Amino acid sequence: MFNFLMPTYYYRTVFDLPDSFWRDNGIKGVLFDIDNTLEPYATELPSDRTVTLFEILKAQGIKTAIISNNHKERVERFAAPLKAEYYYESLKPKTENVFKAIENMGLKREEVVIIGDQLFTDIWCGSRAGIRSIFVERLSDDESAFIRFKRAIEIPFVKKISRKGYGKI
Ligand SMILES: [Mg+2]
Repeated sequence: MFNFLMPTYYYRTVFDLPDSFWRDNGIKGVLFDIDNTLEPYATELPSDRTVTLFEILKAQGIKTAIISNNHKERVERFAAPLKAEYYYESLKPKTENVFKAIENMGLKREEVVIIGDQLFTDIWCGSRAGIRSIFVERLSDDESAFIRFKRAIEIPFVKKISRKGYGKI
């Protein structure tokens, strides 16, 4: 039960993944959440480590896209310095933008992974789309009342995931 909330991989942050992770796992496309995955909500622009991560992926020939539930201005402004494809107001766990992104990448579902910090948003979206997912711990506690509500429901599932430890679940 609740297998749709189980990610394929679990890491502390996206920056803790080894550079060889993508190639080792046959990943050719990465769908990123922004808020609390790449940067906290209040951070308008990508930090150097995010820029570096996107450069590492590009150097390995891996395609990237940003799939955010946030509004157009936030997502557009954030994606510009990364020169990444972006999709805003995605309503994850809705899968529409995930499928659009995979199609634009010209990849197969099994070659793509979604990364995010919320089980009921990012990980569920990955399960619904039939793609692999990476669950990461949130970068800050600065969240809306609705997200804090979802966090409360997530607790038993996060415990189950964290008991397995970092890496493949
Ligand atoms: Mg998020």
